[in-house]
Amino acid sequence: MFDAGLTPHAAAAMIGPQMFDAAACRKWVVVATRGQSPCCPACGDFLSAREVQRLLDGKGITCAACGVHSSPRSGTILEGSTLSDAQVVFILALLHWELPAYQIAKLAGCSPATVYNWQHRVSA
Ligand SMILES: [Zn+2]
Repeated sequence: MFDAGLTPHAAAAMIGPQMFDAAACRKWVVVATRGQSPCCPACGDFLSAREVQRLLDGKGITCAACGVHSSPRSGTILEGSTLSDAQVVFILALLHWELPAYQIAKLAGCSPATVYNWQHRVSA
């Protein structure tokens, strides 16, 4: 016997960024924000394969050309953001599925203003 007492509301409350694979989201966000061939945000020099892998792993790098340290988010649209990579992917996915911003915010664990901000970024 299976107790089907799960209501749609209760099921919706379980949906969230925690469902997404953190490493896969990080890699997607790095490529989406820095491109397939990431450059140093300070000098613009292309990064080595090893440096790119460090960014994909969520680690910082020190540019071989200029010596400036940067994180995966340095110089990107996400610099200074407190959203996790999984939250970013989750918000973008739900925006794509055209859920209302207030509902996305509630499920993603962020403010509606954050969702509106992303809505404008992806629709521009
Ligand atoms: Zn550099």
